[in-house]
Amino acid sequence: MKARAGVAILGSTGSIGISTLDVLRRHADRFRVVALTAHRDVEVLLEQCLAFEPDYAVMADETAAERLRDRLRAADRPVEVLAGAAGLERVAALPEVDQVMAAIVGAAGLLPTLAAARAGKRLLLANKEALVMAGPLFVAAVRDRGAELLPIDSEHNAVFQCLPPDFASAGLESCGVRRILLTGSGGPFRATPLNQLAEATPEQACAHPNWRMGRKISVDSATMMNKGLEVIEAHWLFDALPEQIEVVVHPQSVIHSMVEYRDGSVLAQLGCPDMRTPIAHALAWPGRMDSGVAFLDFARLATLEFQPPDFARFPALRLAFAALAAGGTAPAILNAANEVAVQAFLDRRIRFTAIPAVVERTLEQVAGRAAVTLATILDDDARARAAAGERVAALAVEV
Ligand code: NAD
Ligand code: MG
Repeated sequence: MKARAGVAILGSTGSIGISTLDVLRRHADRFRVVALTAHRDVEVLLEQCLAFEPDYAVMADETAAERLRDRLRAADRPVEVLAGAAGLERVAALPEVDQVMAAIVGAAGLLPTLAAARAGKRLLLANKEALVMAGPLFVAAVRDRGAELLPIDSEHNAVFQCLPPDFASAGLESCGVRRILLTGSGGPFRATPLNQLAEATPEQACAHPNWRMGRKISVDSATMMNKGLEVIEAHWLFDALPEQIEVVVHPQSVIHSMVEYRDGSVLAQLGCPDMRTPIAHALAWPGRMDSGVAFLDFARLATLEFQPPDFARFPALRLAFAALAAGGTAPAILNAANEVAVQAFLDRRIRFTAIPAVVERTLEQVAGRAAVTLATILDDDARARAAAGERVAALAVEV
């Protein structure tokens, strides 16, 4: 048996990537960092390479890769630097890698994340967009290639912890599960007067009350598209019917999600809102290890509140349920349109309230297909991006 488990982190310079390295730093005796990857941030990846001494580093393009090579050479560090999608797929499937943290944001993470699943790795899945786009392909890879799919998204990690160990082979029904209750904080605009939402700025949308995250997921939390993507994610991870998945607004983000059983029991996972808990859980599973996260102080917890989701305030949630019901490539179309709309909002080209409008229009315009193959997913993703881009151009305003 190997002394230390080899870990590749796809998207190591992001919020999840940095939290993962923080956990790994505490357990250098158990884990070895084999590969780190980033989009264009050479300086941060250089620092991480110096601190963690991986064998491989991957940058999104050859120019950035060459800059990183120069810097590593100057520092006399022998790291093999690869570039682009091929580099990502290669490190995700290396024989010396046991666990892959999939923490690239958006559709850019699909192919390497799928490569890790197809190589039979333990896949620590933060990149929910990949699963939303290609759920059936991940389910097949886990089944046929012996991969382990461990959710990092705090809600799904909580649900995973509240289910019996054999839920995947037994099925939710025979485990006595009635419903999966996904909690969500409601984001920064939970109580903002509806007539002010159109004026919301990227800074306001990214100021999440409980979590510090990358900008895309922060905007998704503000529209609650994040919860919508998580409903689709829960469907694939737990083989749950759409009507078995319920969203509960819980502003304090202390209960990370719950499982309701047929006998009336509800199991919940609680903790401080810090992603290092699910990360440490998945790395150590089925064991447990320190994460560096503060412990809950029940004496200081004031109140825990719960509300039903407001579908009028958050149309994105309704759109995600509709895409899940439509099936096929509809979730990939939803995801692609959302990525385009969120980027346009962050670039101040469209209003906050235009994000779900662009997604809705794209879902109406681009016909999905029942067959989910890599080819249909990538093609429908591209068609959705084109349609959403046109809609953004038509709506473009100075915000
Ligand atoms: P982030 O923006 O902070 O980091 C994204 C990482 O991906 C960075 O390392 C970046 O360099 C890399 N990247 C971006 N575009 C790329 C591209 N085109 N090619 C290659 N690499 C690219 O994002 P994040 O907040 O860390 O989120 C990462 C994923 O985890 C997302 O899918 C998000 O939904 C999910 N997630 C995040 C959190 C959180 O607390 N941040 C919680 C749950 C789930
Ligand atoms: Mg989440």
